[in-house]
Parts: sequence; C-alpha cells; structure tokens
Amino acid sequence: MMPPAPKDVGLFSEGPLEILGLSQEQFSEAAQEVLSALGEPHYRMHQLRDWIYKRTPDRFELMSDLPRPLRERLQESLILHPLDFELEKISRDKTRKSLWRRKEGGTIESVLIPEPSRTTYCISTQAGCPVKCTFCATGVGGFLGQLRASEIVDQVVSMRQRTGTPPTNIVYMGMGEPLLNFEAVLRSLEVLTDPNQVGFGARRITVSTVGIPERMRRLGDLFPQVKLALSFHAARDELRDQIIPLNRKYPLKEVLAAARDHARATGKRVTFEYIVLPGVNDTQRDSREIGRRLRDIPSRINLIGFNPFRGAPYEKPSVQRLLVFRNWLERDYGGTVTIRRSRGEDIDGACGQLSLRRLEARG
Ligand code: SF4
Repeated sequence: MMPPAPKDVGLFSEGPLEILGLSQEQFSEAAQEVLSALGEPHYRMHQLRDWIYKRTPDRFELMSDLPRPLRERLQESLILHPLDFELEKISRDKTRKSLWRRKEGGTIESVLIPEPSRTTYCISTQAGCPVKCTFCATGVGGFLGQLRASEIVDQVVSMRQRTGTPPTNIVYMGMGEPLLNFEAVLRSLEVLTDPNQVGFGARRITVSTVGIPERMRRLGDLFPQVKLALSFHAARDELRDQIIPLNRKYPLKEVLAAARDHARATGKRVTFEYIVLPGVNDTQRDSREIGRRLRDIPSRINLIGFNPFRGAPYEKPSVQRLLVFRNWLERDYGGTVTIRRSRGEDIDGACGQLSLRRLEARG
C-alpha cells in the first residue's frame, strides 16, 4: 500500500502546492517530501526539475521516465499548471496571442512576438488592471484580480511548450501593472532566473511600469540585471494625470527620480515607452519637455503609434506624424529614439484587447 500523501505537514499543510510559484528551497523541500514518502532515490530530484522547469508537459502523467506511483503521487500533491489554455490567435505577421483561463474564472493573455533575431514573450501580471490608463484596453476592462507567481511563470513555460519556440526575451508588459503585484512579480523573477529552476537570463527580462518610485528602486536592488521600462507617455503632469491616473499619486518628478536612481544603481539604461496619441502628446512643446526631463537619465525612447480599440478616445497616428515627432525628439532629447512597429493588429494585438473583445462578446 502506498504511504499517505504529505497533506498535513510542512509546505503541504494548505493542500496541493502550485509548484511553479515555489522558490528553489521550497521546491526542494516539497519534492524531497514526496520522494521520501515513496522511498525514491535522490537522482529523481534532478529528473523532476528537468521535467517541471525545462520541459513542462501538460500533466505529471506524461513525465515518462518517472515510475507510475511517483507520477500519481505528484498529481495528488502538486498543481503543475494553474492556468488552462483557452485559445490562440495567430496574426498575419506571425504574432501569437494566447488566452488562458484562471482556475477562479476569468481570462488573461500572453503574446509571442517573433522577429528575425529574437522571440519575445509578453506576459501579464494581473487579471485586468486597476490603473485605468485611457489609451489601454486592459484598463478599460477593469480589474479582476492579482495573478499568483505560479500563473506568471506558467505563461512562459506553457507558451514555450505549446509553441515549441522558446523565448529570447521576456517582457512584463501584458495585462496589469507589475509593481502593483510586487511580491508575486518578485517571486516569478526568482523562479524564471534561478539556474536550478527555469534558468532564463535576467538581463533578457524587462519589467515595465507606469511608475511606483520605491518599488522601482527595490526592483533595481533585488534584480539589478533585469531591465526597467517606464510607460512614460506624457512629460507634463497635467496631461499625464489625465491619461495615467496613478500619476496623481506619484507625479513625474518622483517617478523620474526613481528612474534615475535605478539607472545609477544598475548601470542600465531605462527604456521610456511613449505611445503617440495624435494631437494629444505629440506637439513640439511635448518634445521639448521630454528633452528637458530625460536629458540627464541614461535612457532610450521607444515610440509606439497608438493602436485603436473599440471606444478608444484616440486615433492611430500616421507614419508621417510619427517620423516628424521622432525628428523633434532627436533634436530635443539627444538620446536614441526608435519607432516600435505595432504587432498583431489583426488579432487585437495591443495589451488587453483580446480579453476585452471576449468580455464584450459575452455581454
Ligand atoms: Fe494597466 Fe498598463 Fe494598461 Fe495602464 S497601460 S491600464 S498600467 S495595463
């Protein structure tokens, strides 16, 4: 007869554990408990790590070189995937957007962006978003909950397993404001970058925020290799207050001071993301103000043309308008300014659009 499952001891006292959200020490402890209960040898630990973090099949049952009783015990004691795959849309430009169903209901999304020299995964950190930026479909859809660390990691390992195309870069730029789900984001970074877990290079990860100063600094202290992107979008508080409501709590002066500190502490340039909203934030005055504010911050600017969604209060800028604004910025700011191509427009490519469309469809 099989020994009892480790339900009431240590890490297992609250029921099955979501393995992808455990730190490296917690994983070792949990795995050891299961292995000891079945009298399995220690080398199974390495097999388990390999299956869970590197190969990540749909179910424990598919871990073919583990003995059946062990697979059954793992199935009983641990949750491998907290997210269920719901659907995928593939754009004409080969951008792939996945929609995942949460166990507690509701959906979140992740995007795979293929380019000739890299494959970027864009992942979500919240279901919906409480910040309600006016240019963002996720903000319009409202806030439905925080993702657990296991759900953040699952987007990466499941997308890798489903598509067969591993990421070269990971960006925390999907649904949600990462620094408003800070502890889960930190844990997910730990799991993704630990060589004994997923083992992805920290310097190829970017966390994007609208700006929460103390957490930007703490992120730099804890993960100095991880890059920071700031959703900037306006260089004047009166305009930024309107389009990013959190700016009223953390005004530009404080946010930019934190960005400067982050660049100093990590030695890395901050990327300033700037969505061009024609007639709203793309005047010569805006360009001069950006130059004044950012000149002494080691940084680069990414311009992104607004990608309209149903009910959005802005238009898509013409290519000409983007180029003119970039020229002004090159004069006023002096650093690198690039125009980022909008991807996956035919599949509701901007963050939150696919989930929003489904919410609408369900009435
Ligand atoms: Fe939230 Fe980011 Fe969208 Fe703003 S841009 S509403 S912070 S997901």
